[in-house]
Amino acid sequence: MYSTNFLRETARVVQRVVLVLLLNLTCHNINRSSYLPNATPVFSNLSTPDIESSLITLNLQGHFIFNDTHHVANDFGNIYHFLPMAILLPKTVSDISTTIKHVFDMGPNSELTVTARGHGHSLQGQSQSHGGIVIRMESLKQPKMHVHTGEPPYVDVSGGELWINVLHETLKEGLAPKSWTDYLHLTVGGTLSNAGVSGQAFRHGPQIDNVHQLEIVTGKGEIVNCSEDQNADLFYGVLGGLGQFGIITRARIALEPAPKMVKWIRVLYSDFYSFTKDQEQLISSDTSFDYIEGFVIKNRTGLINNWSSTFSPRDPIQASQFRSEGKTLYCLEMAMYLNREDSNTMNQVSIS
Ligand SMILES: Cc1cc2nc3c(=O)[nH]c(=O)nc-3n(C[C@H](O)[C@H](O)[C@H](O)COP(=O)(O)OP(=O)(O)OC[C@H]3O[C@@H](n4cnc5c(N)ncnc54)[C@H](O)[C@@H]3O)c2cc1C
Repeated sequence: MYSTNFLRETARVVQRVVLVLLLNLTCHNINRSSYLPNATPVFSNLSTPDIESSLITLNLQGHFIFNDTHHVANDFGNIYHFLPMAILLPKTVSDISTTIKHVFDMGPNSELTVTARGHGHSLQGQSQSHGGIVIRMESLKQPKMHVHTGEPPYVDVSGGELWINVLHETLKEGLAPKSWTDYLHLTVGGTLSNAGVSGQAFRHGPQIDNVHQLEIVTGKGEIVNCSEDQNADLFYGVLGGLGQFGIITRARIALEPAPKMVKWIRVLYSDFYSFTKDQEQLISSDTSFDYIEGFVIKNRTGLINNWSSTFSPRDPIQASQFRSEGKTLYCLEMAMYLNREDSNTMNQVSIS
């Protein structure tokens, strides 16, 4: 007989395998349009010049670029290169809505695709559009960032805003978003279309769990507000929806008081079992840490030498003599948020 725990664990593994297969299928679909760089697709009854001239007639505050579109036929992955027909640089939400409505009105015969592009840090062409329209979300500067300091605190931001700018603006009020990505030069719309995961997720959930409200331009060009109480299907479809359910033009992000100080700790392991055991214990216990993340480190030379704080600062030789060459190491990174009055107790960690 199998134990309940064994069966539960097996079910969890099967779920993960199915999820990975589904994600692979999704990626395949996204990229199936073409692997040929710079080829232009044929639309059934609308020629490219026809579409271009119809786009020019739209009443927009921003504008289209039709020539030099190569710079959005790339992304961080540098694997796929899909040349779009046009780039829209929107100034207003209405520019986005007008454009999408226009494409929708072309009807099903038009195979024109529209893709929102944040900072282009996806890996497999997700922010590109083969022969279609790429909307450069970073051009959209509305609404102007507005920090609400009441209870609960939040910030309203444009979907094209970079998280690093959100941090700088909210810090002026002593506040910060609750959940982050490690790297902050990503857009709000770009990470909310995925999940937005970092070391705070064990406590607050990923970034998509820390959004109060969204403004979306739908596939028909309508501008719709949504939240868990209003148009909830759209809200949950768009969050983590890889840009397939609408374009995020505004997001209301949950904030919390920003810590005044942070105690940052990295612990190295050579044994995978001890590393995962400690990590699981830390994230499941009522720990004092506010950030916990794990890394695998492989074949990195000189790795530890710029981590002198990992070792005793009084013994820099110990740090410089550490050699990681050729070994696989595991690292737990943890941080504890502190205020100045906590500085006396910052080295005491309680785990229950
Ligand atoms: C160096 C690096 C570090 C990273 N670190 C982390 C990390 O710590 N945690 C983490 O979770 N992820 C991380 N990522 C992954 C990253 O979060 C995703 O690739 C994210 O989608 C990139 O955001 P972007 O602004 O560049 O979006 P893009 O790559 O431009 O777009 C990504 C997807 O979102 C869609 N999209 C973009 N904007 C909108 C919008 N306004 N409305 C609707 N859909 C939109 C696009 O169509 C596309 O499908 C990292 C990636 C890199 C390259």
